Amino acid sequence: MVNELRAAETAVRQAIGLCQTVQASIDGGVLEKNDRSPVTIADFGSQALVCRSLAADFPNDPVVGEEDAQTLRQPEQADFLDRITQQLAARGVDADPETICDWIDRGAADPCDRFWTLDPIDGTKGFLRGDQYAVALALIVDGQVEVAVLGCPGLGSPEDGGLVFSAIRGSGTRVAPASDPADSRPVVASDCTDVTQARLCESVEAAHSSHDRSKTIAQALGLETDPLKLDSQAKYATVADSGAEIYLKLPVDSDYVEKIWDHAAGSLVVSESGGTVSDTFGKPLDFSCGRTLSENIGVVVSNGPLHEQVVAAVMASATTRDSDDGH
Ligand code: AMP
Ligand code: MG
Repeated sequence: MVNELRAAETAVRQAIGLCQTVQASIDGGVLEKNDRSPVTIADFGSQALVCRSLAADFPNDPVVGEEDAQTLRQPEQADFLDRITQQLAARGVDADPETICDWIDRGAADPCDRFWTLDPIDGTKGFLRGDQYAVALALIVDGQVEVAVLGCPGLGSPEDGGLVFSAIRGSGTRVAPASDPADSRPVVASDCTDVTQARLCESVEAAHSSHDRSKTIAQALGLETDPLKLDSQAKYATVADSGAEIYLKLPVDSDYVEKIWDHAAGSLVVSESGGTVSDTFGKPLDFSCGRTLSENIGVVVSNGPLHEQVVAAVMASATTRDSDDGH
C-alpha cells in the first residue's frame, strides 16, 4: 500500500494548495452571507485535482466523492467552471473545462470491492469562516479502510502551511507539514487514563452534533475543561495527535446517516495512532454498506484507554435523555 499512500499524499497536497489559495482570497467583509462561491470553486477544484491524480496512478480504482459535475456542465455555470479552470491552471494543471468536468465525474462512482473515498472539502462552514477544514482521502478494500491521507490546512504552526496526516492499516500514523513533506514524525494518541483530565472536541455546528448531549456526557465524566470546537475531520487529527482525548459526533436529527467520506480517513488516522473509533453504541464503524455508515449511529473517538468509559457515558446519556423526554 506504500504506492497508494504516496499517490494519495501527492494528490491531497495539491488539493490543499488550491483550497488555501481560494480561502485566502475570501474577503470576509465582501463575501455576501449566502455566497458559497469560494467553497464551490475549491470543492470542485479539489475533487478535480485528486481524481486526476488517482486516474493517472490507479486508472482502475473508482472514486466515491462528495461532488459530481452535473450542474457544472449546465451552460449557465460557464463562469464558475472558468474560475475552476483558472485555479487549476494556477497550479500548473492546464485543462479544458470539459476535461475538468470529466475528472470531477470520476468521483461519482459507486462503492465496490476496492475504491477511494474523497471529501474534497470537509467542513465547508469552517472553510468559509476562515477556520478549520480538511481534504480527506481514503482507500477502502473489502469494507476496510486501508490507506488514509487527511490534509488539515488549519492545523500546525503558520510555517507548516497546514499538516498532512497519513496512515496505512497496520503501519501507524505519521504527519508532515504541508510545506515540507520530508519532515515527517510519528503520530501517537494521548496516554491519558484519568478521564477528568480528558479534553473533548466536537463540531462547531450544533446542527451536526448535539452540544446539549455532549454537555451531559462531559458532566457525567467529570471533564474539567470546556470542549474544543473544531470543524471537519481536523477533530480526528487532533485526537490522533494528542491534542484531545475525546471526539463525539452525537446525532441531532434521527434521520441523518453518516457519509463514509466524512469518517474513512479520520478513523484510520486515529486507530493507527493508538486511538479507538466506534459509534455511540461502541460498535466499530462499518464501511462495507455503500456510501453511508447505515449500520452505525453517531461516532465516538477516543485516545484508546478511555474508550469504554466514554462509550458507557454516551450510552447512559441516551437513557437519561429518553427518560427526560418521558419515554
Ligand atoms: P463538522 O465539520 O464536524 O461540523 O462536520 C461536517 C460534516 O457534517 C459535513 O461534512 C456533513 O456531511 C455533515 N453533516 C451535514 N448535516 C449533518 C447533520 N444534520 N447531522 C450530522 N452531520 C451532518
Ligand atoms: Mg464532509
